[in-house]
Amino acid sequence: MTRRNLFPQSLSSRLLLTYVTLIALGVGALIAWTGQRLGEQSVQQAEHELELQSQIIANALRDPLERRPSSPTTGERSLDTLVASYAKSIGGRITLLDVQQNVILSSDPRVPLQTVDNHAEFAAARAGTPQFDIRWDEWAKEERLFVAAPISAEHVQPLGFVQVSISMAPIYAEIQQTWLSLIGIAGVVVLITVIVSGLLARQIAIPVQNLTTTSEQIAAWRLDERVTPAGPSETRRLGVAFNRMADQVQGMIAQQRAFVDNAAHELRSPLTSLRLRLEMLQTHGQNDAELTRRYLGQMEHEIGYLQRLIDHLLALAAVEEGVDAPRVPLDLSRLLRELTEQMNVVAAQAGVHLQSEVPEHLPRIQANPEQMSMLVRNLLDNAIKYTRKEGTATLTARAANGGVEIRVTDTGMGIPPDALPHIFDRFYRADRARSLQQGGAGLGLSLVRAIAEAHGGRVEVQSRVNEGSTFTVSLPA
Ligand code: ADP
Repeated sequence: MTRRNLFPQSLSSRLLLTYVTLIALGVGALIAWTGQRLGEQSVQQAEHELELQSQIIANALRDPLERRPSSPTTGERSLDTLVASYAKSIGGRITLLDVQQNVILSSDPRVPLQTVDNHAEFAAARAGTPQFDIRWDEWAKEERLFVAAPISAEHVQPLGFVQVSISMAPIYAEIQQTWLSLIGIAGVVVLITVIVSGLLARQIAIPVQNLTTTSEQIAAWRLDERVTPAGPSETRRLGVAFNRMADQVQGMIAQQRAFVDNAAHELRSPLTSLRLRLEMLQTHGQNDAELTRRYLGQMEHEIGYLQRLIDHLLALAAVEEGVDAPRVPLDLSRLLRELTEQMNVVAAQAGVHLQSEVPEHLPRIQANPEQMSMLVRNLLDNAIKYTRKEGTATLTARAANGGVEIRVTDTGMGIPPDALPHIFDRFYRADRARSLQQGGAGLGLSLVRAIAEAHGGRVEVQSRVNEGSTFTVSLPA
């Protein structure tokens, strides 16, 4: 059973959802706070204004009220019109009460006269503190804001009270309008966020998608595929790095294929030659002792070549994998002298003088003795192979930069300048005929370079045609 994940899977949807949620929460909180504050302010402002008005009206009504007991009817009528006109000007209701809080008259005919009104605003008016009250008004059947003020000369017992009230409906309508505007603004902000973050998320997601598609294509062996670096600087850099890596992988695979092709090719010629000679021996071998001897000699040469080829291939693989090659602190001087002795036999057979100038001691370097022998033997072998009779091959070694420098010089045939850049490539032979005749597979110098590099060193060559060559190997401490 698969569990359904409600969180979206794609990068762009996740980014979009995150941005929009955060912005919506932020904007929502801000708008709730602002709306609340604005609503409170509207009510407070209305209360404040009403309070001022109630005081002004209380002052204005003091004289008419004082005169009232002397001529109650005329007084009553002039008060009536006064109250009605004030009520009209503030757009609310004004009610007059005597000192016992009995309603004397009201601008609103629905308010019953001669009833006692005991609401909170009167107690405050008596105490001289401002107080308002919002409550349901049973005469107007609506919510109203009430304020009361005492009608009195200063420091004298009040003559009565004036109660001023307005309907809350316009205030509530204004608050509602504010809320609607705020919600509208929030909607626009969220909409803009959705659009902008959608574009941003796509900017990141599209290059990532392209990278994924291209990786899948390369994994399906379409090695020529590359991405077009796009989007923000990070994904562009990723694209460039990805392409570079793909180039390297493609190059390595091409090299590997070429190597296998070359190796197969190198193996096939001696094997074909061996088979042909075997067939000839089977048909003619019994009768012709001279032919048999010659063919067996040639077959031995081919087998020797195959042996060297395979030894070199295995050695190269081992050096490149870096396995089974323990390093020890090594003074190369003894190893070099022993090698010179061994190679003297080969040099003598070829009629080449082999000289060596190796000091008693050399700085110790961390090296694998077998690989070091292989390196020097290959260089000496080449120097002897590619030098004519009576020529000289010289091995010198010295301390250099804390490490060791080994140099093999010959007075041989030299290497043409156009071949020089390739001689360290696998299976490359500058002089193919001579190399084959000498049983070379074109791997010796690749092995020399691989060993030098595996030891953190490098190998250089200088050569002049018909004058000779010098190979210099530098090995660090
Ligand atoms: P090979 O098995 O053919 O000797 P190497 O990798 O050892 O292969 O050398 C590559 C090629 O470089 C040789 O085929 C040869 O043409 C050239 N070469 C190497 N060493 C020398 C040298 N000392 N003098 C002249 N040519 C050389």
